[in-house]
Formats: sequence, C-alpha cells, structure tokens
Amino acid sequence: MAILVYAESQEGHYKKAAFEAVSYAKSIADKSGDTVTAVAINATESSDSLYKYGANKVLKVSSDALKNFSPNSFAKVLAELKDGEIIVLPATNDASSFAPLLALKTNATLVTNLTSAPSNVSPFTAERRAFSGKGIETIEVTEGAKVLTVLQNAFGLKENPVSGTEESANVSVSDADSKVKVVKVEQASSDKIDLKEAEIVVSGGRGLKGPENWGMIEELAKLLGAATASSKPVADIGWRPHSEHVGQTGKAIAPKLYIAIGISGAIQHLAGVNGSKTIVVINPDAEAPFFKSADYGIVGDAFEVVPKLIEEVKKFKGA
Ligand SMILES: Cc1cc2nc3c(=O)[nH]c(=O)nc-3n(C[C@H](O)[C@H](O)[C@H](O)COP(=O)(O)OP(=O)(O)OC[C@H]3O[C@@H](n4cnc5c(N)ncnc54)[C@H](O)[C@@H]3O)c2cc1C
Repeated sequence: MAILVYAESQEGHYKKAAFEAVSYAKSIADKSGDTVTAVAINATESSDSLYKYGANKVLKVSSDALKNFSPNSFAKVLAELKDGEIIVLPATNDASSFAPLLALKTNATLVTNLTSAPSNVSPFTAERRAFSGKGIETIEVTEGAKVLTVLQNAFGLKENPVSGTEESANVSVSDADSKVKVVKVEQASSDKIDLKEAEIVVSGGRGLKGPENWGMIEELAKLLGAATASSKPVADIGWRPHSEHVGQTGKAIAPKLYIAIGISGAIQHLAGVNGSKTIVVINPDAEAPFFKSADYGIVGDAFEVVPKLIEEVKKFKGA
C-alpha cells in the first residue's frame, strides 16, 4: 500500500513544505513497509525534487477545475487517489483548510501539526504542537485511516533519494465540486517573501529600540533576498506585525541563514529558529544566551554593525 502525500505547489513550483511532507511520509513508510505516492496538483516542476525526499511515485493532476484553490475540490482529488490508510499534508493554510474535509470524506482520524516522526506506526504514536505552541502533546491513534498534517519547519527536510516514477492521474472533478467560484484575485504584497519558505531571514528584537529603526533591517533583507522576522515582544508592542513573530508561540522557520539582531536568545525564541542551518547573532552583550547557539557572532551595537554590513553586501554585489 501507499502513503499518499500532498505535494503543494505555487505557480507550478513545489513549496518547501511539500518536501517536508514527503520527508515525513517517508519516515512513516520506512517503519510500515509502505511506499510513498505524492499527489501534485497543477505542478509543472520536474518530479526529481520529490524523488530526492523519498517519493516512489508522483501522480500529476491538472484540470481547469483545479486552476484556483478550492478546499472541496482538492479534498475530493486526494480522497479519490487514496490507496492506503494514511494521507500526509503540510500544515500550510491551504492544506489545513481542506484536511478536515478530507478526513470526513475518507472516514479518517485527523491529527494536525505533527512535529516528530512517529515512534510507532501501529498504534500511530507521534508528537504534535498543542496549546498554541505552549506545549507538545504525544498522541496515539489506535486504529483506522488517518489524515496527518505536518507543522512547517518542525520536522525538517530529510533527503532520502529513491528512483521514482511519474504518472498523470485522471480525476473526476468539475467546477461544480468547488461550490466556491473565484471572482477576482488580487495580490496583496507580491514582493514579500514567505517567512516559512524563506532561505534567508533577517530578524530583529527589542535591542532595536523602536519601530523607526527597522529601515536597516528591511534594507539588509532586501539586499539578501531575505524575509524579515521579529521576536515576540516586538510584535506584542506593535513594532512589527504578528505575522513576523517567530518562536515557540510564533512561526517555526528553518532557513539556510538566520541573522538575529538585538535578540537575546530566550529558549522560547530558539524553539522556532533552531532548525536554521547557519545562525548569525549581532548583540553588544557578549553574555547574551543567543551566542551559545550561534555559528557566527558579532559582539557589537546593531546601529554600527548593520549599516557596515549593508555597505559590504552592496560592495559584494557591485552596487
Ligand atoms: C510562554 C512563552 C512563550 C514565548 N514565546 C516566544 C516566541 O515565540 N518568540 C519569542 O521571540 N519570544 C517568546 N517568548 C518571550 C521570550 O521569553 C523572550 O522574552 C523574548 O524572546 C525576548 O525578546 P528580545 O530578545 O527581543 O528582547 P530582550 O530579551 O529584551 O533582548 C534584547 C536584546 O537586545 C540586545 N541589545 C540591546 N541594545 C542593542 C543594540 N544596540 N544592538 C544590538 N543588540 C542590542 C540586548 O543585549 C538583549 O540581548 C515567550 C515567553 C513565554 C513565557
């Protein structure tokens, strides 16, 4: 049997969350002896990237009726292609919105925001984020089919190359399945990089003294092609939007490079960023706890260091 996994894409390209969901499905398959089948709706990218994370088969689905996202239609497609007991979805906004429908359609138990590989597949035992991130809960699903969502950037990407195959899948989906007609699409902020998908993140904390000082954070982020983030107090005071707050109660991120400026490195902050590949910390207090988790540390005042960094990046880029 196969573990079905939804490989979410945007404008034809797979999201990082898709690779993480495939990695998670593979971790289950390794224990259960199943294979992994990824379902790609409207993706134009080659399936090689999905094979890299352990997808044995990729089912490509494209239909005019699926051009715009619709929870009803996407749940219908996955329910039709189900070929086993388990369906894995990334806990993105879109997939989280159709996960309950899919569970209903397939008579499955829904478990959301999983953070760890299962310690056991029967009964299915794993950890999930609970109480808005204030706790981690161990759950056990004793029997039956399961729809599982994987918290973004918590499990991480695990390369596990297999030689996979690709097929086109025919599904009986029409405009009538959607029940919602998209009348108009407006892009809110087209040049903003999605924090959860970003490869580089520049983040600021209370050490920046006030919202008026975020210009240099945004400038550095723009030069590096990075997303911006913040510590929790900064969002609580209203210096930055809550959508930028990272940590235990905010977003979990796992970029290749995380630059933390004026952030002390409290354990609750680290909980959301310690999946980053390389961490750079800028703080005048050499005793700041963040330095213990940093790959590179600059003991210095952000107001002196960041402008110099911006100048150097500009020189490097030949601007
Ligand atoms: C249940 C719970 C959940 C929480 N969840 C989160 C969470 O998800 N995310 C989160 O971030 N926090 C969270 N917190 C809060 C967390 O404990 C810390 O209070 C918070 O992370 C501290 O934010 P900060 O580093 O910006 O501020 P501070 O702790 O005030 O640190 C500011 C830092 O800036 C440095 N600094 C000062 N001047 C400069 C300068 N000129 N240049 C550079 N650096 C300077 C200081 O040396 C200091 O290290 C949570 C707390 C609780 C109790």
